[in-house]
Amino acid sequence: MMYTEAFLKDKIYGVYFWGAIGDALGSPYEFMSPEEIAEKHGSRFEDLENYYHLQEEWTDDTAMALLLSESLLECGFNYRSQMEKYIQWEEFGYKSMHSFPKGIGIQTEEMIVRYLQAVNEEIDYRPREIDLSNQKKDSNGCLMRLGPVPLYYFDDKKKAIQASIDSAKTTHNTDMCREINGRYGRLIRNAVHTSPLEISKEQLLENEGALTPLDSVNTMLQSYKTKKAEEIKADGFILNSLEGVLWALQHGNTFAETLVEAIKLWRDTDTTACIVGYVAGGYYGFSQIPQKYLDGLAGKELITEQAEGMLEHVKKLMKK
Ligand SMILES: [Mg+2]
Repeated sequence: MMYTEAFLKDKIYGVYFWGAIGDALGSPYEFMSPEEIAEKHGSRFEDLENYYHLQEEWTDDTAMALLLSESLLECGFNYRSQMEKYIQWEEFGYKSMHSFPKGIGIQTEEMIVRYLQAVNEEIDYRPREIDLSNQKKDSNGCLMRLGPVPLYYFDDKKKAIQASIDSAKTTHNTDMCREINGRYGRLIRNAVHTSPLEISKEQLLENEGALTPLDSVNTMLQSYKTKKAEEIKADGFILNSLEGVLWALQHGNTFAETLVEAIKLWRDTDTTACIVGYVAGGYYGFSQIPQKYLDGLAGKELITEQAEGMLEHVKKLMKK
């Protein structure tokens, strides 16, 4: 299939910007209960004006996606480069709006400490299977930064899936995290290769099959479809996070609706809305983002730099 430059730009910018806007819109609500959100904004959730907090700025989700993006564009898929960039962010707020790593997850922080301890002894860094028994090890920190990975392998679905799996390994190297990253990477990949004119959202979200047999994931991929909002627990556990994301994608049909559906699930609001944004932005495209959200978005130049770099990379891939 031939893609025009306009098509590629719409898809690639869509992934970066919907993700960042979702993160920024969701972040003020991360630690609020549904009652507190309702108290602040009334019981109606339809109007995204109530969520117009872009100046609150995006958090770790977008920062880590930009770091991963920059690493891919500089040297292809390289674990050590990815970790080195995560460390620069952790130490100095590199590629973010702050001098500190706003919103950094416990698991990510733990693995950065371990990497720094190990790096002097190891000549060739390889991520290790996580041996922690804490429940945070299956957290959504690897899913929140995934957007750029399937874009980088735009012309090769197999590589896009494998790199999505591998990108979990630096900080979240567990069966569950690898499986979910692979599946969601595949979904982002499918979203950017089509459009609402070609296939319906229901078709897009249809389960394409497991990558490894993890029953809990397979069960969720069916059960989310019939659940009510109050039955969804979109917290930091990666399986719950993906359930919330799919639920919001299923229930929202526009830019505003999709992000509101994600945010009204409360709990990990910035991450749910950010991850939703990767697929929604890839599917609906950058052109569907109302201008006012772009106008209000903090740190646009950091996001544009990566989106532009990725577009140039993908254009070269498609010319081969
Ligand atoms: Mg965050």
